[in-house]
Amino acid sequence: MTEHVNSYYAASANQHAPYPTLTEQLECDVCVIGAGYTGLSSALHLVEKGYSVVVLEAARVGFGASGRNGGQIVNSYSRDIDTIEANCPPEQARLLGSMLFEGGQIIRERIKRYNIQCDLQEGGVFAAETEKQLHELKAQQARWEKWGNDKLELLDADGVREVVASDRYVGALLDKSGGHIHPLNLALGEAEAIRLQGGKIFEQSAVTSITPGQPALVKTAKGAVKARYVVVAGNAYLGNLVPELAGKSMPCGTQVIATEVLGEERARSLLPQNYCLEDCNYLLDYYRTSGDHRLIYGGGVVYGARDPADIERLIIPKMLKTFPQLADVKVEYTWTGNFLLTLSRLPQFGRIGHNIYYMQGYSGHGVTCTHLAGKLLSEVLSGQAERFDAFAKLPHYPFPGGRLFRIPFTAAGAAWYTLRDRLGV
Ligand SMILES: Cc1cc2nc3c(=O)[nH]c(=O)nc-3n(C[C@H](O)[C@H](O)[C@H](O)COP(=O)(O)OP(=O)(O)OC[C@H]3O[C@@H](n4cnc5c(N)ncnc54)[C@H](O)[C@@H]3O)c2cc1C
Repeated sequence: MTEHVNSYYAASANQHAPYPTLTEQLECDVCVIGAGYTGLSSALHLVEKGYSVVVLEAARVGFGASGRNGGQIVNSYSRDIDTIEANCPPEQARLLGSMLFEGGQIIRERIKRYNIQCDLQEGGVFAAETEKQLHELKAQQARWEKWGNDKLELLDADGVREVVASDRYVGALLDKSGGHIHPLNLALGEAEAIRLQGGKIFEQSAVTSITPGQPALVKTAKGAVKARYVVVAGNAYLGNLVPELAGKSMPCGTQVIATEVLGEERARSLLPQNYCLEDCNYLLDYYRTSGDHRLIYGGGVVYGARDPADIERLIIPKMLKTFPQLADVKVEYTWTGNFLLTLSRLPQFGRIGHNIYYMQGYSGHGVTCTHLAGKLLSEVLSGQAERFDAFAKLPHYPFPGGRLFRIPFTAAGAAWYTLRDRLGV
């Protein structure tokens, strides 16, 4: 049995009964592989449209990145619309621009409609450590306003000091349509919504093979599902189940700590409005306070997704650089999770044959885009492919160095960007 990692989220998860293991032969319209946000959002949109859906999860609902992440509802994609506009035909860029803020809206709609208790708080901050980064945030504000976000405010050095008690930043962009959630409780709430609408979810049911065909045949160790469509949503935890997908992406680890409970007063002394924050560095720090007033602080990247030996040694110095006033605070939880990096840092959506779909590779910013992905998948299966295809047409390339050398090559690239961040050039 593979259980949730020992994180603050698992320790504070809403009460939930485990889902059974698949031990039978089933038939359905859509078989979804993976119960993270990509799989859950797909399944929920599909059951809402009346499809029969079976979700197969290797471990537990929210076992992967979706149950371990920073909980930050960050708008747009992991590369912003300017990169897309520079690389795609105008109509594709227009479609992708029109969806920049939709994922966050879907999350809020889910929370409201299904009454999901996941500590939703509104407001997210992008903080600049250098004038160059602040200049880029100004440009981001202009782009996002052009695409309809009227909830943005640029903060100068005094302004940023009012939203975060740290001397690290020269300014920031506040996005009041950003926000944060308890990520595992969001996943568990979405799974329950699927179940209540007749969707079937199986845990401890790793898919071992997919045989293409009409229907496709999806096998686990103890059962099988015949499905008209298959959705591959295993992201960084998929391994080599679908070899076509493995070469164009790279699993990476990032680490998170949760402090002891600080109490409301001390938590608000750090982040007075309870916004979440991420900085603008290539390898970024991200943090927020939890519903029970801990600081949850994440950062760092391990290319190739090996588990680092000592997460406290990696993350505590980052936390203390931001908040030296926390030197006396104990850390109660540490964990690591894997996200899937693509070379362009744009998500990968597509089809294999005519009835196997995949969505993956959100490159570290997937809380919103996964929710959008599920909606677009449900659109494509009901005959409206235009918006899904705007993503599917994004160009993707293998990592330089192939599977053997992609890790050192990418780490060297990241070291270069980190140096540029430090020098502010
Ligand atoms: C530590 C961390 C912090 C992050 N912080 C943020 C953040 O604050 N904001 C943000 O926007 N993004 C963040 N991200 C990224 C975001 O969490 C991910 O992009 C998103 O959760 C990906 O969702 P997913 O459903 O595609 O994949 P996952 O949530 O990883 O789910 C994939 C699931 O598929 C299952 N699976 C794999 N193979 C099989 C198989 N063969 N059979 C059955 N099941 C299988 C896995 O067990 C897993 O449960 C973070 C990621 C990490 C790791």
